[in-house]
Amino acid sequence: MTADDLAIAGFVPFSSIDWPARLAATVFLQGCPWNCGYCQNPDLIDPLLPGTLAWRTVRETLGRRVGLLDGVVFSGGEPLRQAALVDAVAEVRDMGFLAAVHTAGSYPARLKALLPSLAWVGLDIKAPPRLYGAVTGIEASGARAWESLDLVVDSGIDYEVRVTVDPTVLGLSDVEEIVAELGRRGARMPVLQEVRAMGSRPEYAAKLGTTRLADVVPEDALPGVERRVEHVPIKGAPSVREVLASRDDGDSDDQRMSA
Ligand code: SF4
Repeated sequence: MTADDLAIAGFVPFSSIDWPARLAATVFLQGCPWNCGYCQNPDLIDPLLPGTLAWRTVRETLGRRVGLLDGVVFSGGEPLRQAALVDAVAEVRDMGFLAAVHTAGSYPARLKALLPSLAWVGLDIKAPPRLYGAVTGIEASGARAWESLDLVVDSGIDYEVRVTVDPTVLGLSDVEEIVAELGRRGARMPVLQEVRAMGSRPEYAAKLGTTRLADVVPEDALPGVERRVEHVPIKGAPSVREVLASRDDGDSDDQRMSA
């Protein structure tokens, strides 16, 4: 199993929003074992679908970005689903990049093995353990996600916990329970993310209706907890143009690549 075996669904050569305060390339890997109603990438869930882009193409593009990018983010889908991720992380580190993952914590054992090679983790925590199945469709998902949280906190590496608030499942007391449990486990304050109807399945969008994050977590609730809503970039992240200008390169090839 090598990085050439990766099923890659998409590639963004320059991104200033996928890793806080870093300029990165983002690789979207196919397949996820869970089935969240609000998933923004439902086409990336099916683990049997082949990739649309070869790793060698990604590798070649990254080779031209050495010195321009801080690192490479592996996202999805669930990137830890694919065993070839280990090889891909090793390759990008050999090229001089930092490596990061966006994960829902579905594979704690794989995450534990990979953590020493990562510089940052964006971890989704979706619900208190008792409500996880209602969000992901998989009853055992909560134990795995919260185990992954403990692993990330104990590792000492940089991370961000994102709580994507599903209004069709969670109420304010549930979100308060998540924040309290994160504190009890020694985790940083999370970022609350708003689900988006656009991009989700039509049946979920219909169920969500016009409900927004502020309808579940009023503005005066949970003071000090950051919120991220649609099209608001990560706080502190420079624009692609700003970073490229500072790195003396005129190539602003900010595009999603797929075959
Ligand atoms: S864990 Fe993430 S990629 Fe998987 S179904 Fe849920 S939202 Fe989609």
